[in-house]
Amino acid sequence: MTVRPVLTAPHPVLREVSKPVTSFDDGLKTLIADMFDSMYAEKGIGLAAVQIGEPLQLIVMDLTGKGEDTTAQKIYINPVLSDPSETLIPYEEGCLSVPEYYDEVLRPDAITVTYQDASGTTHTERATGLFAVCIQHEMDHLAGKLFIDYLSKLRRDRALDRVKKVVRERNRADD
Ligand code: ZN
Repeated sequence: MTVRPVLTAPHPVLREVSKPVTSFDDGLKTLIADMFDSMYAEKGIGLAAVQIGEPLQLIVMDLTGKGEDTTAQKIYINPVLSDPSETLIPYEEGCLSVPEYYDEVLRPDAITVTYQDASGTTHTERATGLFAVCIQHEMDHLAGKLFIDYLSKLRRDRALDRVKKVVRERNRADD
């Protein structure tokens, strides 16, 4: 069990395009366990591997955010999205890499995700509601994108200022 630090914007690794996972071995299982630990430590509901410095096509999610019910733990490896709905819905998003900043993003309210699980088996699911928002947000991380990229420059700058302040406060608390 290892909580690893979550990288915050504008860390350059967050802009890397993640590579496919090719070996479904013990190293992958350890990385997945570390991702859940790191996500719960920061009270997140979704985390992409690149956020802890591993640019691999790997996402973990627990929409309860509590970590009490292991059946709520979802793993998406080499995920591909298809068939987005035409209907867009606004949702106030946040991101562990943009701490303490929330803003509205418009996304399709339903989308299909095809992915592999930790043993390499392929699955397909139709995502709606918060699941649809979260999987699209995490998929952006795999492409080196952040939700603040959808905002106006003014709002993006405000978000980055906020992150700078939060990181400074955290570093001070660590002293
Ligand atoms: Zn995020």
